[in-house]
Amino acid sequence: MRKDELGVPQLVEWLAADIGATAVALVDRRDADLAAWPAGLPASLRRALDGFPCLRVDWARARSELLGEEETNSTCDCGERHQLRAVAMHGRWVLVIVTKGLLLPDGCFEPTTAADYALLVLGIREFLEDGGARRRGPRPI
Ligand SMILES: [Zn+2]
Repeated sequence: MRKDELGVPQLVEWLAADIGATAVALVDRRDADLAAWPAGLPASLRRALDGFPCLRVDWARARSELLGEEETNSTCDCGERHQLRAVAMHGRWVLVIVTKGLLLPDGCFEPTTAADYALLVLGIREFLEDGGARRRGPRPI
């Protein structure tokens, strides 16, 4: 498969597989108002969060960090490092990841998944910048 044939859904799927995430979703803030989160989040994310009751997200802090620093992390205290990571993209989208052990206790990325994570998130960000639907076929030179 050529890169030009890829789309955001494929990249999100690969990201979830490569980092072993419980759930990954790209959320359009026009569909799920950040002020109401976790209400309005896709069912896959809510199910994943329900599955990790140890992971208590401070949604007010998460919102504030997403709006200010464009990313937020929450990690549980149970020792298994259940985590929610969210990254804001282009003012409209938020990539939300519910997983286990993506980040080390010091907040750095787990070395075995860091490269895949970085590459795929960069790819998703690039596709969204192009309007979310890059045309198939080679790009004009
Ligand atoms: Zn936990």
